Amino acid sequence: MKNYGLDIWSNNNFIIEDGQLKLNYKSMPSLLEITEQIRLNDVRGPILLRFPHLIKRQITSLYSYFDKAMKDNDYMGSFNAVFPLKVNQFPHAVEAITSQGEDFNYGLEAGSKAELILAMSKTPYGANITVNGFKDKEMITLGFIAAQSGHNITITIEGLGELETIIEVANECSLKVPNIGIRVRLHSAGSGIWAKSGGMDAKFGLTSTEIIEAIKLLEAEKLLQHLSMVHFHIGSQMADIAPLKRALREAGNIYAELKKMGASSLDSINIGGGLAVEYDQHTQSKARNYSIEEFSNSVVFAIKEIMDAKNVKHPNIFTESGRFIVASHVVLITPVLELFTHDYQEQLLNFKAVNPPLVNELVDLNRLLNNKNCTEYLHDALDHIESLLTLFDLGYIDLQDRSNAEILVHNIIKKALYLSSSNPTDELEQLHIKLQERYLINASIFQSLPDYWGLDQHFPVMPLHHLNVPPIRAASLWDITCDSDGEIGFNPNKPLYLHDVNLDEEEYFLGFFNVGAYQETLGMNHNLFTHPSEYTIYIDDTSYEIANVVESKNILEILGSIGYSEEEILKNLKTDLLKSDFITEKEKNDTLAKLETFLEQNGYLRTTN
Ligand SMILES: *Cc1c(COP(=O)(O)O)cnc(C)c1O
Repeated sequence: MKNYGLDIWSNNNFIIEDGQLKLNYKSMPSLLEITEQIRLNDVRGPILLRFPHLIKRQITSLYSYFDKAMKDNDYMGSFNAVFPLKVNQFPHAVEAITSQGEDFNYGLEAGSKAELILAMSKTPYGANITVNGFKDKEMITLGFIAAQSGHNITITIEGLGELETIIEVANECSLKVPNIGIRVRLHSAGSGIWAKSGGMDAKFGLTSTEIIEAIKLLEAEKLLQHLSMVHFHIGSQMADIAPLKRALREAGNIYAELKKMGASSLDSINIGGGLAVEYDQHTQSKARNYSIEEFSNSVVFAIKEIMDAKNVKHPNIFTESGRFIVASHVVLITPVLELFTHDYQEQLLNFKAVNPPLVNELVDLNRLLNNKNCTEYLHDALDHIESLLTLFDLGYIDLQDRSNAEILVHNIIKKALYLSSSNPTDELEQLHIKLQERYLINASIFQSLPDYWGLDQHFPVMPLHHLNVPPIRAASLWDITCDSDGEIGFNPNKPLYLHDVNLDEEEYFLGFFNVGAYQETLGMNHNLFTHPSEYTIYIDDTSYEIANVVESKNILEILGSIGYSEEEILKNLKTDLLKSDFITEKEKNDTLAKLETFLEQNGYLRTTN
């Protein structure tokens, strides 16, 4: 894996220079520099960095490719986009999305009451709001309130019941009626691991019979002039563009049919989200078979073709791509706390006057290992350690002998891997895999990479520094939860190699990339680890600014957030300590002060790194 697949997944957002990973933008700060700057303020644990310029880049790219596709195809409708809030509702993400999207009139999409309230209070004036998902009368009333308050809002109905509720609300009050959209149930389904949103058995959308019924109802209630949109969404992270083309033909024909049936205000097709993000670090398995350019061209061309054939005016096109817009803007940085084999340092060897012969042989192998003999000597060493462990079990050698043997073998393995790293044989590759190093990272996979835990979604990962040195250790990553699922095991098909660093002498940081979509709200507080401390980084021509600091919850706040009384916990801790024996009052008070500072810190590990 050359350069950790940077050329595959990073879209030129990052580059390697002087052995460090840098932002490929303006003053080009390195991620290590930013991390160290933040850690100067005694911040420990994982760090989440937001880069608003990367959101801007994606919004610009989406609009400009559609703009171009429309020009190239003489397309007469307009292009509109909204950000689906479910992909990231965190305040500083939404703030970056709305401010970076302002020039484009970029709007918001809501799928629940809370998201709708958020959309109503955060959508820039005049930008679109679309509403999807299951709705009750309250949620529909909120849509009327939004329309009344001047928002450009479209409520998409997922079933006839919702339409009946809209009619009910319209008859009961004199608030402005919002635009109405119809989500259509397509027989063509999506592809990819999230593709459950399209197809005949989909959770959402109206069948053709229901659509006809809906038109009749709207007409009878004199509300047909509010029907403005046909909507579909075939699922997230579309791997293949073919199902989208089928969906476009189907939805486009429904649109044209509805126009013919008298839906004269109908003027938009909303193609939902699904635009995929490249998460892969390894060329052999790319996440999608199309580019943003092909995507926009296909959408515009397919819709135009249908409308021209049926002699219908080109509709405005809406997209609700979320993952594509925000995935790249977040980088999760985790300090490495420990390399598990690092206890095998040569200075810990402690030989006796007389050592077992096999230990003496290991000493020789370690001393004489070189380029030529390394495979052979490695085999011998692995054979000897097996015998020595058996001898230990049988009581023939003692714990000190065993310790010496283990240290020697680990050193031989490391040296052999290092010596062979430039021309590895198949067998050495296998050994690499067998002799993985385990890196303990100061983070929770459940909190920060929930899709890895739940869906096996791979996220690009790489060190922030040492990038001018070849990494030689096959790595598995362990998080600090005490759950065996909190592990990213070494996968020979998607191998991760990291550096052999001595953490007593220096720090080592790993970055996880493209984690800005879905991961934050899906993150779980397993083991009571909460959202990492987060920072927004604004980069300009000469330097960068660290803003919007939100520190990870402290220990008392974590407990408070699941319903404990913080005061009571403090009181219990205090009472127990103060009534204890054998230490002076001063010691008690000092200990209490120490305890209080512990409680004010976040729950991630502080010592070692
Ligand atoms: C989830 C969702 C989206 C966003 O999908 P992405 O794959 O993140 O682009 C868009 N529209 C609807 C209706 C959704 O449910």
